[in-house]
Amino acid sequence: MIKKILIANRGEIAVRIIKTAKEMGIKTAAVYSDFDRYSLYTKYADEAFYIGPSPASESYLLADKIIETAKMCGADAIHPGYGFLSERAYFSKMCKDNGIIFIGPPAEAIEKLGDKTAAKTLAMVNGVPTVPGTAEPISDAVEAKKIADEIGYPLLIKASAGGGGKGMRVVREGKDFESALRMSQNEAKSSFGDDSVFIEKYIEGGKHIEFQILADQHGNVIHLGERECSMQRRLQKIIEETPSVVINDELRNEIGERAKKLVKAAGYTNAGTMEFIMDKDRNYYFLEMNTRLQVEHPITEMRTDTDLVREQILIASGEKLSMTQEDVEFGGHTIECRICAEDPDNNFLPSIGRIDYISRPSGNGIREDSGIEEGDEISIYYDSMISKLITHGKTREIAIRKMDEALRNYIISGLKTNIEFLHSLLNSPAFMDGDYNTQYVERIFLPEVYKNERTLPDENTETALSIAAALFKERKEAAENGTIKSVNGHSSKWAGKKYEDYR
Ligand code: ADP
Ligand code: ADP
Ligand code: MG
Repeated sequence: MIKKILIANRGEIAVRIIKTAKEMGIKTAAVYSDFDRYSLYTKYADEAFYIGPSPASESYLLADKIIETAKMCGADAIHPGYGFLSERAYFSKMCKDNGIIFIGPPAEAIEKLGDKTAAKTLAMVNGVPTVPGTAEPISDAVEAKKIADEIGYPLLIKASAGGGGKGMRVVREGKDFESALRMSQNEAKSSFGDDSVFIEKYIEGGKHIEFQILADQHGNVIHLGERECSMQRRLQKIIEETPSVVINDELRNEIGERAKKLVKAAGYTNAGTMEFIMDKDRNYYFLEMNTRLQVEHPITEMRTDTDLVREQILIASGEKLSMTQEDVEFGGHTIECRICAEDPDNNFLPSIGRIDYISRPSGNGIREDSGIEEGDEISIYYDSMISKLITHGKTREIAIRKMDEALRNYIISGLKTNIEFLHSLLNSPAFMDGDYNTQYVERIFLPEVYKNERTLPDENTETALSIAAALFKERKEAAENGTIKSVNGHSSKWAGKKYEDYR
C-alpha cells in the first residue's frame, strides 16, 4: 500500500488530492515554486519542498527535479493532478523506471490515447464514431487545403498534441484556410513544441458530452456516466453539469459501453475521460481522451457518491475496482462553476493582485474546492482558475437554485472574478432549459454585453462590507416580495440577445 504521495501540482487540485490522502492515512509531500512558497496547499501537506522559480517550465514541468524530490523524501507514489506533467507519457515512464508509482495510466496507454490523432484512429478501429476528417497529422499546406475542401466548411484545425483549447481554429470559408492553418501551427508549436495539426468537420451547435471511466489493472472497467460541459467560452469549459438533459438511460448505456471497449483496447488503467461532441440529432462523435483526473470530476463524485482520487490511488496500488457497473448508482443532479480570476468587463483578461477578503458559501449540497485563502496573491504565472463551486440537489432545478444562492454568497474582493458573470449565465433562459450548446456563450450570451450600461458601482471602490450589505438588502427585498432576483441586478448587464433569437 502507498505510504507517501508527492503531489506534482499546485492550487486547488493539490489541496483536493491531499484531502483524500489524509482520509486514507497516507502522508503527503507538496512541491512549490518561488511564487507558491506560502500557498495554502504547501501548508496543508505534511511536507513541502522547493523545486524552482515561478514559471512552470522552471518548476512544475521539471520531471527530473520532481522525481529527485520524491526519492529524497521517500514518497512511493506521485499524483500529477491535471495540466503540467499529467498527460506526459515520459513522466509516467520516468516514475516507473525509478520505482515510483505513477497515479495515472501507464506510459503506453497515454501514448495510445493521449495523442488526438492516435486516439481517433483507435476509436475508429473499435467502432466508436469519430468526427469526419483526417486521422493523420498534416504538415503540407497545399495538401491540407485539398483535404479541407473535400471535408467542406465549416471545419476545425486542431493541434495533435493540443489541450486547453490551444492551437485550435474554426474555419468558415476556404479563403481563410491558409492563414488559419499557419496560426494553428504556430500556436501548437509554441504551446506544445509540436506543430502537427489535423482537420475535422466542425459540428455546428454541438454539445460537449464526456464520460468518466475507471479501469483497474485486472481488466475491470466501469463508467460513471456523463458530464455535459457545453457552457464554454473560447473552447474552454465554464459550467459543467451531470446528468445532461439530452442523455437518457439508453444512450448513457450505449456511449458508456463503447467508451469502456475503447479503454480496454488501449490497455488503459486508472481514471480517464472520453470526450464527445453531440449534434442536434444526438449523433455523437469521439473527440479525445483526457488521460488524467478532470477539472470537473467533483460533479461525478457527488452524483455517484464516490471519491475519484481515492479510486485512482487504489487502482495505482494494484487493487481491484471496489464496484461493478451494476453497483454504480446515479443520484440527483450536480453543477459546477469554475471561479476564475479574470475580468469579464475587459475581455476576460486574467486579473492579478491580492485577495483581501473572501466569504465562502456553505450548506447542504454545496461544495467548494479551492486553493486560495485571504491574503493570497494571484499571479500571471499559472491558470486563472482559483476555485470551483459545486452544488448537488435531488433535481436539476434544486441544484440550480442552490448554485444561484451559493454564487450570491461567494464574495471575493481585491481582484476581479467571473462570479457575477457565472451567475448571469446560470440564470439565462437557455441554461435554465438545458437548451444550450458550445457556441451559446460567445454567439448569443455575450454579444450585447458591451452595449449595456453597467448597473453596479465600481467594485474597486466598494468594500467587501458594503457588498455584503447590498446583498443582504437585496435578499431581504427578494424574500419580502417573494421573487428571486439576480445579484444587484447584474443579469441585465450580462444578458445577451433574447432567448428567442437563439432557438
Ligand atoms: P478539463 O477537461 O479537465 O477541464 P482543460 O482542457 O480545461 O481540462 O485543462 C485542465 C487544465 O490543464 C487547465 O488548467 C489547462 O490550462 C491545463 N492543460 C490542459 N492541457 C494542457 C497541456 N497540453 N499543456 C499544459 N496545460 C494543459
Ligand atoms: P482540448 O484538448 O483543447 O480540450 P478538444 O478536442 O476536447 O480539445 O476540443 C475542445 C472543444 O472544442 C470541445 O469541447 C468542443 O467545444 C470544441 N470542438 C472540438 N472539436 C469539435 C468539432 N469537431 N466540432 C465542433 N466543436 C468541436
Ligand atoms: Mg478536451
